[in-house]
Amino acid sequence: MSIKKTPSAWRQATRLLHAEAERTEFGETSEALFLTSGFIYDNAEQAAKTFTGEVQHYQYSRFGNPTVAALERRLANLEGAEACVATATGMGAVSSALLAHVKAGDRVVASRALFGSCHWIVSALLPRYGVETIFVDGSDLSAWEEALSQPAAAVLLESPSNPMLDILDIRAISALAHKAGALVVVDNVFASPVYQKPLELGADVVVYSCTKHIDGQGRVLGGAVLGRKDWITETLQPFTRNTGNALSPFNAWVMLKGLETLVLRVDAMTRNAAAVADYLAQAPGILQVRYPGRKDHPQYDLARSQMSGAGSLIAFEVDKGQKGAFAFMNALELIAISNNLGDSRSLITHPATTTHMKVGADERTRLGISDGAIRLSVGLEDSADLIDDLARGIAQLQKA
Ligand SMILES: *Cc1c(COP(=O)(O)O)cnc(C)c1O
Repeated sequence: MSIKKTPSAWRQATRLLHAEAERTEFGETSEALFLTSGFIYDNAEQAAKTFTGEVQHYQYSRFGNPTVAALERRLANLEGAEACVATATGMGAVSSALLAHVKAGDRVVASRALFGSCHWIVSALLPRYGVETIFVDGSDLSAWEEALSQPAAAVLLESPSNPMLDILDIRAISALAHKAGALVVVDNVFASPVYQKPLELGADVVVYSCTKHIDGQGRVLGGAVLGRKDWITETLQPFTRNTGNALSPFNAWVMLKGLETLVLRVDAMTRNAAAVADYLAQAPGILQVRYPGRKDHPQYDLARSQMSGAGSLIAFEVDKGQKGAFAFMNALELIAISNNLGDSRSLITHPATTTHMKVGADERTRLGISDGAIRLSVGLEDSADLIDDLARGIAQLQKA
């Protein structure tokens, strides 16, 4: 088997189908699925040389697997990264990137608006291992400047953020972080690799939950960490390999299939999201719509300067608080109530009582997550059907 050279002129959609392709002698069209835990050596000498590194041979699927490697190469090519490690889940990617990099006595600075489990890692897990963690309001550059006026080991941020879609200035924060000696880790799930390239904006490491848009069809869990080759091989890989954060080859194969339609899906979901956001913005009982593609988003210009598309997620606030939000959601017949996102099916969630229940009321207030806030992940349905469904929500909201 050999990896075909990827022409540098290829555009994104072409890369997603063909980049870094490797075929067996059978000439299969689709990537081969190597559903195997281990590998066999021709002789004892080959095994010994594999372990010294003189011979390149797969050893064990916790260390590496051809199907997982195919996904890693294609993701790295898509992201413009030197290297990639695929992980069992998105949280496996976030936790490994941080835990592999920091040690007791280090400081980590993070934006407050993080996915629930990322918030837990920074606020609860890292301090237990002697890492000092500081949360800042992500859109306040002076807060970053102050927190990064002392040396720091790592910065973690998410933009657009979950669930209120704040846009953080990745260029400016990366510059401040580098002065403090910090590795900049960006959780790029909400933008998706199609619309935002954090490495080009100055970040060092990009993490994904591939569960979201990359699979995007509600089937498998997976994650990925992308960055410089030296950091991936010397810092991250010993950690992921020895702690067992390996992606199943089957899941990798499903995600390779997902990548083939990623641009198509994300573009179509984004067109739907724009139509739905405009509908919600003029509907009665809606206090606020947050969508990075709308001019009334508080960081619209920043979003345009670092994202090439606005994405498939919308946050909005209904009047009548939780009662209004529940009446709205329960009236929907097409859009499903689920805390997942980035799926081909439209999904809706009430962050205050689900994904952000555990952060507490005070922290929710700081994050701008009111009891009437709703997050909508827009899928691939016909936008007219989505708007008809949301109209049912609006009607029930008025009666609530
Ligand atoms: C879903 C998600 C994660 C975690 O990914 P899993 O695959 O569920 O482990 C991390 N960050 C963001 C922004 C997410 O949406």
